[in-house]
Amino acid sequence: GVPQRSHAEILQLRKQRLNPALSLSYQEPLKITRGEGVWLYDEQGRAYMDMVNNVCHVGHCHPRVVEAGQAQMARLNTNTRYLHDNIVEYALRLTATLPSSLSVVFLTNSGTEANDLALRLARAHTKARGVVVVDHAYHGHSPSMVELSPYKFNGKGGEGQAAHVGVVEMPDVYRGMFRDGSAAGQEYGRLLQPAIDGLRGQGTTLAAFYCESLLGCGGQIALPDGYLPEAYAAVRAAGGVCLADEVQVGFGRAGEHFWAFEAQGVVPDIVTMGKPIGNGHPIGAVVTTPAIAASFVTGMEYFNTFGGNPVSCAIALAVLDVIAEEQLQENARRVGAFLMDGLRQLQQRHACIGDVRGRGLFIGAELVRDPAARTPDQPRAKAVVEAMKARHVLLSTEGPDDNVLKIKPPIVFSRANAEEFLDKLDEVLAAF
Ligand code: PMP
Repeated sequence: GVPQRSHAEILQLRKQRLNPALSLSYQEPLKITRGEGVWLYDEQGRAYMDMVNNVCHVGHCHPRVVEAGQAQMARLNTNTRYLHDNIVEYALRLTATLPSSLSVVFLTNSGTEANDLALRLARAHTKARGVVVVDHAYHGHSPSMVELSPYKFNGKGGEGQAAHVGVVEMPDVYRGMFRDGSAAGQEYGRLLQPAIDGLRGQGTTLAAFYCESLLGCGGQIALPDGYLPEAYAAVRAAGGVCLADEVQVGFGRAGEHFWAFEAQGVVPDIVTMGKPIGNGHPIGAVVTTPAIAASFVTGMEYFNTFGGNPVSCAIALAVLDVIAEEQLQENARRVGAFLMDGLRQLQQRHACIGDVRGRGLFIGAELVRDPAARTPDQPRAKAVVEAMKARHVLLSTEGPDDNVLKIKPPIVFSRANAEEFLDKLDEVLAAF
């Protein structure tokens, strides 16, 4: 077997032998050796409640998913140049969850690859190059996706905004320029037109608008009602296509809906998926319309060595089965509502909680120094994460000011888990 090394040895080897730009969670990093359901276990068998994993969606190491992967690995794993049942069954099952216009599936190995391929589709379809993105968004780690990710290109080590990219303000009703809940969606949506005009002024026409259906790196922000309808209308009038990045938030996490964009009452032209799709196994997907897919037929083959292989498809099918059979979308709705309600009750007692928001089991709690001035309190958010870790609850922070507690547990998260979390958070906040 693999030698079992101490924390210090692993740290040393990471430093010597691994990509030096990797980061670690926590002041004292954890060594995690096993996972089950919402729990992660360290090398001494201590259990930690995982509240920040939207990848192991139906629970860590779900036996159904593990078994599906094992059985298919023992039988066949090859590329898509042979006929196989798994991939067509998956395409049928996946498209059945989407509006009928979204009927053509491309399978990849990550969210980045899905968003990258989607850019090629959008450009082939529109014969244009420009892309509008939402500020602070993250869409992937490839060169073309870093260019579409203000979170990266405006951050440390970033190279700034590329000429073909337009950026619109986040539709943030807590901290942004429009805060009137009923009007803000439209007001933010109207910002698309000047961004599109700005690109056109520099000779770039619009290929696509990329928007996460709930903003992750932006700070766990739910889009205000009316935002995507307004934004999509401007994008389509300019000849562009509308992409919903569901890499973080798809597959039932949003609770009320299987896809988070559905809460906005729109139908995107392209939807991209990743993270939860394979419960940790590397899969990504792009789903689009027949017309956009047809524009991609140029004579150049699209071949992706691993994308859509029988093992990945078996795993992805098992994930869909588990979500349906265990009614996990409904669980996300019910437990998410309970959790958000509990956080709002804590907000009454702890003035440092400035805002609680989200959908289903995708929740943010924004910490502030002064609730009236809404001054971001990053040190406190960091301290809460460390103090919760000491109580064996794993959380993280997010947002432009890194002051938002990021809550996105596997969607098997139960009401009892939520109660335990709320009690511990109450304790931690009271101790400050
Ligand atoms: N889009 C969004 C919204 C994401 O959160 C991420 C990953 N954090 C990606 C795309 C990229 O996915 P991956 O890391 O699988 O390449």
